[in-house]
Amino acid sequence: MFPILGREGPDVEKTMSNSAKLLVKLNWVKAGATGTFTLMPPLQRSVDKLCRIIENEMNAVGGLKVTMPSLATAGIWKKSGRYNDMGSELLKLKDRNEANLCLSPTHEETVTSLVQSLSPISYKNLPIKLYQIGPKFRDEMRPKNALLRCREFLMKDLYSFDDNLENSLKTYKDLNKAYENIFNRLNLDFFKVQADTGTMGGSSSHEYHIESPIGEDTLILCKNCGEAFNKELTVDDEYIKNCRKCGENVKIIKSIEIGHTFLLGTKYSETFKANLITKESKKSLIVMGCYGIGVTRLVSACIEVLSSKNQLRLPELITPHQICIIPQREGYKSDITLKQSEDIAINLSQLDNLKDYEVVLDDRLSLSIGQRIKEASNFGYTFGIVVGKSALEENPKYEVIDFKNNEKKLMINEEITNLAKHIKTV
Ligand SMILES: [Zn+2]
Repeated sequence: MFPILGREGPDVEKTMSNSAKLLVKLNWVKAGATGTFTLMPPLQRSVDKLCRIIENEMNAVGGLKVTMPSLATAGIWKKSGRYNDMGSELLKLKDRNEANLCLSPTHEETVTSLVQSLSPISYKNLPIKLYQIGPKFRDEMRPKNALLRCREFLMKDLYSFDDNLENSLKTYKDLNKAYENIFNRLNLDFFKVQADTGTMGGSSSHEYHIESPIGEDTLILCKNCGEAFNKELTVDDEYIKNCRKCGENVKIIKSIEIGHTFLLGTKYSETFKANLITKESKKSLIVMGCYGIGVTRLVSACIEVLSSKNQLRLPELITPHQICIIPQREGYKSDITLKQSEDIAINLSQLDNLKDYEVVLDDRLSLSIGQRIKEASNFGYTFGIVVGKSALEENPKYEVIDFKNNEKKLMINEEITNLAKHIKTV
C-alpha cells in the first residue's frame, strides 16, 4: 500500500530552486531528455487534482473542453508570422514526406483555423470558449528548475470567440474572475498585474504572479493606488521608484508567473478569416481572447513558495494523499497495531472525501516510527496518524500529527473520523 516510489533519493545539485531540489530528491519527477520530465505518481495526483479545479472553473464560465493536436503544420504558423517571430523556441520537425511541422507552444493558429472551418458563425452561437489541458513545447535555450522552465510542459489554454469587442471584454472579465477563483481555492497570495502582449499580440493583457526570490519576473506594485504591472512593460526607470499613476513610492518584488490572459482582438481571426454573421446580417471578424495557466509550472510554484528546505508543501486541496498511517515498528504486539492501522485505513477510506486513495498506510515495519514520521513530514501529507503504544491501552488513542501546523494531539477513533471528514479534497 505504501507508495515506494516516493522514497527519498540522494541530495541534488545546489544551483536548483528549492522546489526543483525537492521534486528530484523525493522522486516526484524523473528527468528525461533535456528539459523534459516524467511526473511520478505523487506529483501526477497533484496535477490531476489541479486539473479538476481548473476544469471546474472553466466549465463554470461556459468553457467547452477539446483536445487539439500538438503537431501543427508549419503553414499555419507561417501564415500568422510566428514561424519566424518565435525564433528557435518553436520546435520544428519534418515528417517522412518531408512536410514541415512544429510542436505547438500555444494554439491560436490551430484553434482559429478550426473556428474558420465552421465560419461564418451566427452571432447567436457566440460566445464560444474552447479549452484544453495538454502538453506544450518550447525549445528553451536554458531549461532550469525542473518544471518551472522546461521544454515540454502541461498547459490549460482557453480561447474565446465573441461577436464584438464589448462582449469580448465581458468574456475577459469572466475568465479573469475564474482565474482568481482558481488561485483563491489554492489559498495563494497572488498578484494580478498588467503585462506585455509579446508575440501573442492583441490589445490588453494581465498576468498572475506569486512572489518568490527565484522568480524570473519583476513586478512594480503601488500600495497607494493599486497600480501593478510587470517591469517588462516599462523602459522608464522613473516608474521603478515612483508610481506612474499617483507618484507614491512603489514596491518591487521578484515573482513567478502562474497565469496569463490576453484580449487578442481580431489579429488571428483576420489572418485566418474567421467570420461571423452579425444581427444585421453582415459579415464581421470574430473577436478573440486567450487564457493560459501553466499547470505543471503552477504546482512547482506552489511547492517553491510553501515548502521549507526538506519539507515539501502544497495547498491542501492538491496534496497528493491527505493521511499517512504509521503503525509501530516490528516487535512487541506489532501485529495488533498493524491490524488497528489497517482498520483505521479501511474506515477512513470509506469517507466520501477520502475514498480516492487519500489514505496511505506506511507498513514498512522495519523502519522506526520516528523515521517514518520524518519521511511523511517531508512528503507533505496533511495528517499523520501514529498507531503506537497508546493504541494498546484499554481505550486506544492515536497520535494525530498536523504536518502543516506542526501540532500533535492524542485522539480516539471517533475524533479521528470527525477530523478526517472535514478534509477538503477535489
Ligand atoms: Zn500609485
